[in-house]
Amino acid sequence: MPLQFYDTRRRKKVAFEPLEPGKVKLYTCGPTVYNDAHIGNFRTYMFEDLLRRTLKYLGYEVTQVMNITDIDDKTIRAAKTGGISLEQVTAPIVERFFNDLDTLKIERVEVYPHATKHISEMIDIIKTLIEKGIAYPAENNIYFSIEKFAEYGKLSGMNLEKLERGVRIDADEYEEKESFRDFALWKGWTEDDGEVGWDSPWGRGRPGWHIECSAMSMKYLGETFDIHTGGVDNIFPHHENEIAQSCAATGKEFVRYWLHSAHLQVEGEKMSKSLGNFFTLRELIDKGYSARAIRYVLIGTHYKMGVNFSNESFGAAQASLERLDTLRLAAEKSLGDGSVRPELTEQIGKWSVSFKEGLENDLNISAALAALFELVSAGNRLATAVAFNLAEGEAVLAVWRQFDKALGFLFWDDLPTEIIELVRERTRAKEGRDFSRADAIRAELAANGYQIKDGKLGVDVTWSTGASSGSGWVGK
Ligand code: AMP
Ligand code: ZN
Repeated sequence: MPLQFYDTRRRKKVAFEPLEPGKVKLYTCGPTVYNDAHIGNFRTYMFEDLLRRTLKYLGYEVTQVMNITDIDDKTIRAAKTGGISLEQVTAPIVERFFNDLDTLKIERVEVYPHATKHISEMIDIIKTLIEKGIAYPAENNIYFSIEKFAEYGKLSGMNLEKLERGVRIDADEYEEKESFRDFALWKGWTEDDGEVGWDSPWGRGRPGWHIECSAMSMKYLGETFDIHTGGVDNIFPHHENEIAQSCAATGKEFVRYWLHSAHLQVEGEKMSKSLGNFFTLRELIDKGYSARAIRYVLIGTHYKMGVNFSNESFGAAQASLERLDTLRLAAEKSLGDGSVRPELTEQIGKWSVSFKEGLENDLNISAALAALFELVSAGNRLATAVAFNLAEGEAVLAVWRQFDKALGFLFWDDLPTEIIELVRERTRAKEGRDFSRADAIRAELAANGYQIKDGKLGVDVTWSTGASSGSGWVGK
């Protein structure tokens, strides 16, 4: 089956063909770093991570750009109210953002451009738009004239009759009800901006939010690139405006496929900072949820369906993960010679195909997870009848590694190498009857949050260390 995605602009599922065979250029709207990302934001970043990993799992070479919005109305307001510089507001938030990505095992993308480092690229696009007669100065600002861009509204499917000629809007974020108005590309300096500002042909000022993404995406991915993603709230006005600015400036198609993810909700409402119904990742981990379960919950519902945030979903995720681990543990405990039972080969082949086809079908995660659980059932049945030999264990682990390229949660509880080494050293100490050394190692492990239990063939290890908890096994 060819890879397909639901394209927001065409309003249907379409076959995906990158501009350059085998290579995908992908742009993702990143965080506005005026305060910490909440778990709703991570729903969108997680969808984007699944997309990226799936493309790589399918053999594509991915170049992905995620911008850091370190200049907009909100960051400036935070600097002003805090009485600190823009950099002082954004730098610690950017650092925490990257920590959160690592905690959730969201892969690093190739480029994280900061808006404040790309002001000249933004100015160049605005200059071109003025030369073409599409942008114009008014009051202290430069605006994009949307009536000059016939395609305006195509992405969000808004009714052009709502177009309000010559009516302007300055705010970076505005709602559908504010309808179609000329939006600000460049905002001349005002007292509210305090220390923040850059020189431009139109005097001191700063860019509007939308132009930032046009400038940074085209700089790193070219004037036309493959995929642009974001949450559904980005469709209008942000992405509509990005298309208008970019296409009007270059005369070329801007983005070939638009993918948008549905929101994480709390009791039927979008999780958002303005509603105050949000949690940060740190808060959830402090409440005792494992980062792995959070990853599972955020990935486990199709990206176009709203996920409801609830305590129950984390409990269910933990149980699902434990079930998935049963097959992996059986494989890790494999022992002895022998060949792979034909039935195991057959089951692995069958469910690998379903898994891949599920993801190829617009990232149908339910189908992919169903295949995974079918394989767990079949594999466990075989392992219960006769324990896996080494070849079988390796066959299971090989398919697990394949799947985990896309999912990123199957091997979460891999024990750190230094812990494995310690467990082995303790086993050797015991075998050499050096019990005081063995006890010292046990104490050291416990002090780091690792509990061990000796079994016949190896050592079971369980742990809980703040961001993660789980269980593993170290063979003798
Ligand atoms: P922001 O930092 O507000 O610009 O948002 C960053 C990303 O998170 C954007 O792609 C938003 O669409 C997305 N986002 C914001 N709130 C939610 C939510 N409740 N669920 C899913 N995605 C969200
Ligand atoms: Zn953007």
